[in-house]
Amino acid sequence: MSRIDISKKVLIITLFIFAVLTAAFTLTHSMQVSNILELEQNDTLKNVERVQNAVSTEQRYLDYMVQDWACWDDTYKFIEDKNYKFIDVDIQNQTLTGIKVNLMVFINNAGTVVYAKSVDVDTGKEIPVPKELLKMVEGGNLLTKSENDTIKGFVLLDKDPMFISCHPILTTKYQGPSRGTLIFGRYFDKALLQDFENITRSSLLMYRADLDMPPDFQNKLENFSEATENIVIERRSKENISGYFEFKDISGQPALIVRVDFPRDLYLSGEKTLNQMYLFLLLTGLMIGAGVKFALDRLFVSRLVEIDDFVTKVRSEKDISKRLTLEDNDELFRLAREINGMLNEIYLAEQELKSQEREKKVLLDSLNELVVFVNPDLNIIWANKAALEYMKKGLQEVVGLCLKSAPVISDLSENMQLEQIFVTGSKKSGESTSKDGRVWFVQGLPVTEENGKIIGILETCREITERKTAEKLLQEKQIAEVANRTKSEFLANMSHELRTPLNSIIGFSELLHEQAYGELSEKQLRAVGNISKSGNHLLHLINDILDLSKVEAGKLELNYKDFDLATRLKTIQNLLSPIADRKNIRIEIDMDSKLNSIRADEDRFIQIMYNLVDNAIKFSYENSIVKIGARKKENMVEITVKDTGIGIKAEDHIKIFKPSSQVDSFSSKRSKGTGLGLSLVKQIVNLHGGYVWFRSSPEEGSTFAFTIPINGNKESNGNIGLNQKT
Ligand code: ADP
Repeated sequence: MSRIDISKKVLIITLFIFAVLTAAFTLTHSMQVSNILELEQNDTLKNVERVQNAVSTEQRYLDYMVQDWACWDDTYKFIEDKNYKFIDVDIQNQTLTGIKVNLMVFINNAGTVVYAKSVDVDTGKEIPVPKELLKMVEGGNLLTKSENDTIKGFVLLDKDPMFISCHPILTTKYQGPSRGTLIFGRYFDKALLQDFENITRSSLLMYRADLDMPPDFQNKLENFSEATENIVIERRSKENISGYFEFKDISGQPALIVRVDFPRDLYLSGEKTLNQMYLFLLLTGLMIGAGVKFALDRLFVSRLVEIDDFVTKVRSEKDISKRLTLEDNDELFRLAREINGMLNEIYLAEQELKSQEREKKVLLDSLNELVVFVNPDLNIIWANKAALEYMKKGLQEVVGLCLKSAPVISDLSENMQLEQIFVTGSKKSGESTSKDGRVWFVQGLPVTEENGKIIGILETCREITERKTAEKLLQEKQIAEVANRTKSEFLANMSHELRTPLNSIIGFSELLHEQAYGELSEKQLRAVGNISKSGNHLLHLINDILDLSKVEAGKLELNYKDFDLATRLKTIQNLLSPIADRKNIRIEIDMDSKLNSIRADEDRFIQIMYNLVDNAIKFSYENSIVKIGARKKENMVEITVKDTGIGIKAEDHIKIFKPSSQVDSFSSKRSKGTGLGLSLVKQIVNLHGGYVWFRSSPEEGSTFAFTIPINGNKESNGNIGLNQKT
């Protein structure tokens, strides 16, 4: 589709132009030839007319001569008197020779020949008067009828045809009456014909119509009436053209047919010139055609072929680093430059595409998700690193495999019906569990071309086992929380119902103990004392349970008010001093002088402090000190309760703030508690927007501490307890 075609097209165009030119030349040629033929026809007509004129001139000469002789007094007289002197003087042989007249016949009015004489004008000798002529005279054919009547024309005599001119015989002054007819004759013989040939410079051939004629003459005889000016032109050969015309006799019948032959010089030289011109033009056309083709091939086609070859080579070798070099600063050069520019841009675009592809590959390879790209037949085209690792195969091994039969990964998309993506055009997703028990989120995305045609599917598989487990746990936790809240609500209600009878038990047992209803034995007193103690313990327990339940049920509301911190700490000291005194323990307060009033739920604050200080006393050895510390930390107040008691074992630290966590059996034996105190402390502190923690070592003692905002603003997030070990 390269070299041959374009060159062929140029050849066809050249040939077409050449053919059109040739047709134009041929048309012009034939027009010119017909022009020449017309010219030749007209020229021949003129030449024939010249011959006709020459013959007519001869006839007119004879007419003139006969008129001259017939209208002459001597002749007029001679017819009457037959004076032979006239003959002797005026009608000598030389006279006839001189005026080139062959025959003279003098006829009187009676039709009798007065005198007749015939001479050979070439030799000057007298010859007999032709008898046929005299017969015609006798027949009266040649006699004039009036003074104005003349007869002229040819007569066909046996020897030769003859010009005849007859005139009435009148006086010199052309007066009548006519005394007869004078006939002059002139033979139209070969000599005269020769004269005509010489005058007209043509070749003449003459036949008598009363004798046999060659066929062409015979032929023309019938056509004269239709011809222009009675001349028939015939091109008899390539070299000769002939004109035919006829002479009529005196009775108007065809007498002589004359053919004038001319060489076709005009036609031949015209045709020659035309042919030369035609040949010259053809040759010029051929040379121009060949030259144009050569020039086009060299200047245009060969360079186009060069460009075509270059483009084909670049395409077949897929090598876009090649560049085209063309010379001349014309359109082809610019085309080559544009091709080079395009190649540059393709090269750059290819590089960019490659780097983008690399980036994409790196990106996809870095994903934990399995990514597989399949074609419309679901055959794998590409898979990322994670997918290959999952399949335990190399890329080359899996490319071309059908996704449905590919190792391991086929299980994940088993129920996905990915083919439907090609019908619906929208993505499909679902969950799938692999044989090893892992849960996967599988998604198939249609990959489309710019026109929207789907060319493949990008399948991604993300493992969601952990998320699934977490979701399950969360669900379980939510169920547990609901159950817990229900339990707390139940406990709150129950505690309330329990306290009413319990208050009555405590009240009456105390009344009994104080012996308000009469004296009791020591054993009874001890029993009633136990009832009262157990009742109080139970009440304390129920109160704690109620508070905790309220907190857990979200129903415990704080009653904020401003109060003096020092006063409240003193209150605690006073409240618990009697218990401390029993073990000879001193309660000391060390308070930051900058602290005075704080804003919190006063009752709950006392409850917290009571619990902590009570615990400190409970778990301290005798003769020791419990220190209460209070200091300002930015906008928080930090309260510490420090003892030098039994301390808490490291393994128990984690349980401390959980409900019912009496960490040591021996301590519970020694100091009765509910096991709910600390967890209540934590909840109340948290409700205030503070947090609680402790430090403790066995046999060295413990320090419990908490912070709450000074002005009651829950700006600090202290919802979690922070256990710290020493
Ligand atoms: P209880 O009412 O039994 O004291 P708490 O919640 O107040 O319940 O305390 C839980 C447990 O934490 C106690 O039984 C004790 O074992 C331990 N404990 C609390 N405070 C101290 C402390 N100051 N020294 C040693 N152990 C303590």
